[in-house]
Amino acid sequence: MGRSIPILTSMSTDTYFGRPCKEGHTLRRADNHGCIECARVRSAQYAKKNSKIVTARAIAWAKANPQRVTEISRKHRGLPPPTRPEPKFCENCGNLPGGRGGKMHLDRDKVTGKFRGWLCFNCNTSIGKLGDNIAGLLRALGYLLNAS
Ligand SMILES: [Zn+2]
Ligand SMILES: [Zn+2]
Repeated sequence: MGRSIPILTSMSTDTYFGRPCKEGHTLRRADNHGCIECARVRSAQYAKKNSKIVTARAIAWAKANPQRVTEISRKHRGLPPPTRPEPKFCENCGNLPGGRGGKMHLDRDKVTGKFRGWLCFNCNTSIGKLGDNIAGLLRALGYLLNAS
């Protein structure tokens, strides 16, 4: 087995609980009333048999839909959707992203989960290490003011 590539599927299908299928599953799709569990098993069997085709298709889809890949990846990591597009420069210090990947970090309030802004690698990790909140940052500021 080489590096496994996730198969990206639409997660937007609405579901409901209905009469059990012949396998005893009760979770169904809202649109065509199909059994979710059975469909998952079928698609896993298909993917196993046709791994090359499925992988190639997943890669092609990911290339054609970079925006969706980002959205799905954020959802998986529990990140909120940003309320404004990713800027070129850090919203705190004005520098380029830095760090690996060269992308801005989506900053969120760890308590409320709400999107806060876009930060470079240094600002994101620094604010996080100082407590990730106003109280923590003010304490650090107080320390500096007291020492100067
Ligand atoms: Zn079923
Ligand atoms: Zn910064």
